[in-house]
Amino acid sequence: MSTSTDQPVFTLHRGTLPLLISIPHVGTQIPDDIAATMNPVAMRTDDCDWHLDRLYAFAQRMGASMLIPTYARYVIDLNRPPDGANLYPGQDTTGLLPVDTFDKAPLYRDGHLPDEAEVARRRDVYWKPYHDALSAEIAALKARHGHVLLWEAHSIRSHVPRFFEGRLPDFNFGTSNGESAGSGMGEALVEVVNRVGGGAFSAVANGRFKGGFITREYGVPKEGVHAVQLELSQVTYMDEVFPYGFDEGLAAGVGRVIAAAVEEGLRRVV
Ligand SMILES: [Zn+2]
Repeated sequence: MSTSTDQPVFTLHRGTLPLLISIPHVGTQIPDDIAATMNPVAMRTDDCDWHLDRLYAFAQRMGASMLIPTYARYVIDLNRPPDGANLYPGQDTTGLLPVDTFDKAPLYRDGHLPDEAEVARRRDVYWKPYHDALSAEIAALKARHGHVLLWEAHSIRSHVPRFFEGRLPDFNFGTSNGESAGSGMGEALVEVVNRVGGGAFSAVANGRFKGGFITREYGVPKEGVHAVQLELSQVTYMDEVFPYGFDEGLAAGVGRVIAAAVEEGLRRVV
C-alpha cells in the first residue's frame, strides 16, 4: 500500500464485448491527508479484495471492459449506498466509511473519526466518479450491444466470524435473489462451477452474499442490464494472512472456472 495522492480515482479499460467487470474493493491506496487520521493497522488494507485485477486479467483479453479503483475501501466503500444504509438489515456489516476492520480493529486515531462534512467530501471525490463511470460505461455498452452483463468481482477471507459462521463456500454468486439478472442466472453459474471445477470448489447462489449495492442498483434485467456479484473465497487463489501473497498455481486453477462462469453469464444475456 502507499499513501500517495493526486492519482486518478479509477482506471477504465474499454473492451469489445457487452461485458463490464467492476472490482470496487481492489484498491490499496490511502491518500496522505486521510492516512494521517488513521491507525497504522489501516495501512495494511487487510480487507482488500486482493489481486482481483490480476485474477481477472483473462477477462480483459476476452474483450471485457474493466473498471478498477485506485483507493482502498477504508477511504470510502464504493459498494455501499451513498446514504450509508445497511445492505443486510439485522446483520453486522461495515459502512460507507468503515470505522473498523473486519476484525474490529479501529481504523481512526482517537478524536479523528470523519464528520459529516468529511463523509460528503469523500462521496464527491472518490465515490461519485466511480459510479459516474460505471453508469456511463453500462449505458455505452447497452447502446452498442442492446444488453450488458455487469460482473461485480469481489473476494473475502474464507473465515470472517463477524460476517458468517465457519468456512464460506468458494464461489458465492449474488443476483439479489434473482432480481438483478435474468431468471436462472445464479443457478446456471453454480452448475458451471460444479461441472468445470470437477467438484474441487463449492458454490452457492444467493446465500450469505446476495449482491451488494452495485449489483442491486444497476441490475435491471428487463432493460437489458444483468448484474451478477461473485464473492470468491480468497483461500482459492491466495494466502489469507499478511502479506497476502498471490498463489499462481491456485489462481490458474480457479481462474479457469471463473472464466467459464463469466462466459456462461455472457451467453445468457445475449
Ligand atoms: Zn468486495
